Amino acid sequence: MATMELRGLRKTYGKTTAVSDISVDIADGEFFVILGPSGAGKTTTLKSIAGLVDVDAGSVHIGGVDMTRVEPYHRNVAMAFESYALYPQKTVSENLASPLKSGRTGKYSSAQRGERIDQVTTTLGINHLLQRFPRELSNGQRQRVALGRVLVRPADVYLLDEPLSHLDAKLRAAMRAELKQLGQMSNTTTVYVTHDYQEALALGDRIAVMREGELVQIGTPQEIWRRP
Ligand code: ADP
Ligand code: ADP
Repeated sequence: MATMELRGLRKTYGKTTAVSDISVDIADGEFFVILGPSGAGKTTTLKSIAGLVDVDAGSVHIGGVDMTRVEPYHRNVAMAFESYALYPQKTVSENLASPLKSGRTGKYSSAQRGERIDQVTTTLGINHLLQRFPRELSNGQRQRVALGRVLVRPADVYLLDEPLSHLDAKLRAAMRAELKQLGQMSNTTTVYVTHDYQEALALGDRIAVMREGELVQIGTPQEIWRRP
């Protein structure tokens, strides 16, 4: 159970209000997209959910649990950043396996880990890269491996911040359907940040349009879509 409730979230940096007053309920298993221009407060919203910033006001509940009472490390959320941090001295395969060996995910058997890695590498099209080192990958391939590192972790919530930004347009479009399918298969609640309108329409069960720290519109793709 991972229904997520954001209530009155607010975060300021000096005189800049990054997130001004966000309240929204995200359903268990929902693929929820936050769409908005650079500087709108999307990343700060994700970081607030992950506990990576101290909010000035408001609360985050996941599965009924008040996250302000849970240390970031113990929140069962997995966050992917736009940058692709990989262990340079480990192969792709080892990079993918390492998040499954530590922390709260240690309870998974090696068979379960293998199955999940298989599922994710197939979806992301990186099976043929498993024995390579990060320096032997293109930027787009690195970004897919970094996304894979997040998705192999069985988490209550995935927080994905522009995870396809370094892929070329063709691959980015191809990955949309795959990502959506992966979300449905694992039934994990996903909050996905993008500035790409088409990507938001393709992926979201619901889309929240964010501007200047506020969610100015929330709806299904049908409700958000309009003729240019
Ligand atoms: P987005 O992800 O939509 O591009 P951000 O959440 O990164 O937006 O940023 C929202 C606003 O907060 C921007 O004006 C940004 O400059 C500011 N901001 C974000 N992080 C910091 C920080 N660590 N220090 C100061 N200002 C920040
Ligand atoms: P391990 O012993 O689990 O292989 P390390 O000792 O190499 O991990 O690193 C410890 C922690 O430092 C990791 O859990 C990770 O969060 C962080 N870290 C170190 N190097 C990297 C890297 N290149 N990319 C991402 N995270 C890293």
